[in-house]
Amino acid sequence: MAKIKMTTPLVEMDGDEMTRILWKIIKDELLLPFIELNTEYYDLGLEYRNETNDQVTVDSAEATKKYGVAVKCATITPNAARMTEYDLKEMWKSPNGTIRAILDGTVFRAPIVVKGIEPTVRTWKKPITIARHAYGDVYKGSEMKIPGAGKAEIVYTAEDGTETRELIHNFKGAGIVQGMHNLDESIESFARSCFNYALDIKQDIWFATKDTISKKYDHNFKDIFQEIYDKEYDAKFKAAGIEYFYTLIDDAVARVIRSEGGYIWACKNYDGDVMSDMVATAFGSLAMMTSVLVSPQGYYEYEAAHGTVQRHYYKHLKGEETSTNSVATIFAWTGALRKRGELDSNQELMDFADKLEKATVDTIESGKMTKDLALITTLENVTVLNSENFIKAIRETLEKML
Ligand code: NAP
Ligand code: MG
Repeated sequence: MAKIKMTTPLVEMDGDEMTRILWKIIKDELLLPFIELNTEYYDLGLEYRNETNDQVTVDSAEATKKYGVAVKCATITPNAARMTEYDLKEMWKSPNGTIRAILDGTVFRAPIVVKGIEPTVRTWKKPITIARHAYGDVYKGSEMKIPGAGKAEIVYTAEDGTETRELIHNFKGAGIVQGMHNLDESIESFARSCFNYALDIKQDIWFATKDTISKKYDHNFKDIFQEIYDKEYDAKFKAAGIEYFYTLIDDAVARVIRSEGGYIWACKNYDGDVMSDMVATAFGSLAMMTSVLVSPQGYYEYEAAHGTVQRHYYKHLKGEETSTNSVATIFAWTGALRKRGELDSNQELMDFADKLEKATVDTIESGKMTKDLALITTLENVTVLNSENFIKAIRETLEKML
């Protein structure tokens, strides 16, 4: 069979530890035998980031702007322990943070649903995608401990020196205060990313805040979403047969639990942080969660939601067998290849992505899986495979399909 050709390169961002090991096996077993893989390679492994003073991360993000689509392996975010372990020149920032700052995107996370890994919530039949706003609020907040009686205020000083004040509280004793902010520009690009993504995957989008209590802050989110929707998206949504739905956050959580799934849930930064962990866990496993960063200009960066699986890597280094789940990393590749195919009108490449996803799901549903899934599956007669043999089992399924 002739290999599938690619006209435009895909930006490939390699990473660290166990996921770097999986990355190579996935390419060797599932991609290179079938595709004339055309990638522009960036090594985001911590050693090379350190060697290039993290320039490679910036370059990979710039390349994503140039070509439009990237696939990223999980990477180490350095902390004190990593400084010593890798003898780092500096505590380099999180690559995801750097890339997000350059692409200015929204992160969409969706579980991969397979038979035999049943959601904890009985009614959920289809994936729920969480869209998390990734700027501001409590993550860029400033806080103060109030030692005793006194007055706390918010003060805004305009460029011409005029002050506007708002009382927070007249303290009678000790307490705490917090100040946070967001930017209309960031909320606008969040809204556009959400609406574009909904059109892209043809699913309804829900958005919820606490605007009844937060009449200026949260209400601003609600108003910006509505204004952009009415002006730019209403007609497109009607044509696509999908809906934008705003409700109060309390109502949203109740509806989510009663729902069948199959929609996007847009969340403010904190809600998205917390709810994405809840949704991922309730769908079964973090190792089955995909993630894509979508910029308002329409650049896409696909990755797995989990980290580098450090504990498994240390076992691997000691020569012990590992059973690390590669599904989310495989789906990062299929997501990126399908999007590349779409942008290049390369039907063969899109079909290949569909088939590789189906081969992965079918392999698990036939009872062959990694240890993390074997522990939670409702299937009987399960075969637990090691990291490499699981990927080889997917290759066998795929070859039968092609
Ligand atoms: P992690 O790599 O997600 O792993 C945490 C634990 O979850 C693992 O020890 C493992 O549990 C389980 N797990 C996660 N993915 C799995 C998979 N594919 N297959 C099987 N089990 C899986 O998180 P971490 O250990 O906290 O972080 C390790 C490194 O990853 C850190 O340096 C962090 O900075 C980085 N990180 C990167 C990203 C990213 O690049 N997007 C995201 C998060 C973290 P058991 O050990 O019980 O088997
Ligand atoms: Mg979290």
